[in-house]
Amino acid sequence: MTQVNDQILVGGEWRQGRGAPVRPLDPATGRELGCLSGASAEDVADAAEAGARAAADPAWRGLPPHERARYLYRIADLIERDTDRLSALQTANTGKTRAETTALVKSAAGTFRYVGATLETAEEALTPSRGAYLTMSVHEPIGVVGAITPWNSPIASEAQKIAPALGGGNAVLVKPAEWTPLIALELGRIATEAGLPAGLLSVLPGKGSVVGDAIVRHPLVGKVSFTGGTATGRNIAHHAADKLMPVSLELGGKSPTIVLPDADVEQALAGIMFGIFSSSGQACIAGSRLFVPESMYQEFVGELVRRTEKLAVGPGTDPTTRVGPLVHPKHRDSVAAYVDLAREEGGRVLCGGRAPEGEAYAEGAYYLPTVIDGLDNTARTCQEEIFGPVLVCLPYRDEEHLVELANASVYGLACGIWTRDARAAWRLARRIEAGTVWINTYKQFSSATPFGGFKESGLGREKGRDWIRAYQRQKSLYWGTDEAPLPWAVG
Ligand code: NAP
Repeated sequence: MTQVNDQILVGGEWRQGRGAPVRPLDPATGRELGCLSGASAEDVADAAEAGARAAADPAWRGLPPHERARYLYRIADLIERDTDRLSALQTANTGKTRAETTALVKSAAGTFRYVGATLETAEEALTPSRGAYLTMSVHEPIGVVGAITPWNSPIASEAQKIAPALGGGNAVLVKPAEWTPLIALELGRIATEAGLPAGLLSVLPGKGSVVGDAIVRHPLVGKVSFTGGTATGRNIAHHAADKLMPVSLELGGKSPTIVLPDADVEQALAGIMFGIFSSSGQACIAGSRLFVPESMYQEFVGELVRRTEKLAVGPGTDPTTRVGPLVHPKHRDSVAAYVDLAREEGGRVLCGGRAPEGEAYAEGAYYLPTVIDGLDNTARTCQEEIFGPVLVCLPYRDEEHLVELANASVYGLACGIWTRDARAAWRLARRIEAGTVWINTYKQFSSATPFGGFKESGLGREKGRDWIRAYQRQKSLYWGTDEAPLPWAVG
């Protein structure tokens, strides 16, 4: 039984939240993991004020970047030390397999370490002088930043905001998703153990419409970094516009995964299945729209369906499981409703399309991996993000037709291309509107490579050498070198 500690981290103090209780579930069993106190708007205000004080304290603000890096390295080491425990907790709260949650924990440790390393090497620029002065461009902390995260990849999502925000010299208020608050609180404990000065990190679980909203609107919060759905992101951007506050948005996707006629079929099949069915399809970058040439469509999709039917569905704790439960029964119902909609839209459900049968699945939020075809590209189920193990397949005639279909989406997060033809891969990769294109691979991430969306998939980039810059303000300094006064001197 997972032990849930009922305290939250507000401005450096572990205490009971004053908001509505939060009741995380184990989606494999439907059982509550415990009840913890959520944050209230007053807790957000306390956290913002404590954060502003901690960020302005010369002990933090004046700390050279390479010394800030030491905190990040310590946090990375402690995350790694606790990999097993954190992975088990994450599997209990999200249903993801242990392999997936172990990878997420390692990725979180890697994020802290990578950001630390960028702090060691970040340089400020001496810009070319165009007069009797020296010019410098320097970067300074914003102060207090808000980090609002979704439920699908906890710990990795939080690390991707906390590490660069702290690295940039700020204090951070983290609002994890109501369904999956436990890992973010563990990160709070780890940061405390690492000796991070009090007040620099607050972890504020609760409802987005209360706690998230209070963070976005709080006058001391100078930037919000958000990962989640496009509708929520747009709403946050409206509030950010009122405050004239910068905002980074990592939003939804409906990513095309494309087979070219000369693809290595084995590699493509495995990559496509991994791209849509790992994490039970609950990934912003899930390759949820499959495009196959007309000439090989029946054979390819037939084989894909045959293999999909064999995927082991079960609890994330079973090492043979490939597809765990969805995060919550309500989300499973939303995925099921989309498949019903696909049927109404004229789609053929080639496999899955229902919850698995049997006692082992009765209480959990399971849904079978599902492949659908026969839909028009304009169908809602081909256009809207389902965020579950549901793949829609569409045939295409030629490259022009393919590009038209693949780009006919409000989203532009990711794309997969399966081919042996390097020139075709290059051409297509440049024509598809997506922030990330994978060629003969899928769902690979490197801290060193910027990530973010085109179109309604987001604004701004995470990762890369300039990661901390999204959490800083740029300032220019002019140092006069002329001993003579400026021409306005009188007398
Ligand atoms: P969501 O409903 O948009 O929620 C995301 C976060 O925003 C949650 O913490 C939520 O709180 C909070 N929130 C809700 N309403 C808010 C408001 N009015 N003000 C401030 N915060 C608010 O998204 P989700 O269902 O958790 O996650 C799935 C979505 O995330 C998908 O669309 C997926 O594509 C996207 N995603 C994108 C990326 C990327 O990098 N591009 C990565 C992962 C996921 P509560 O849930 O507690 O209400």
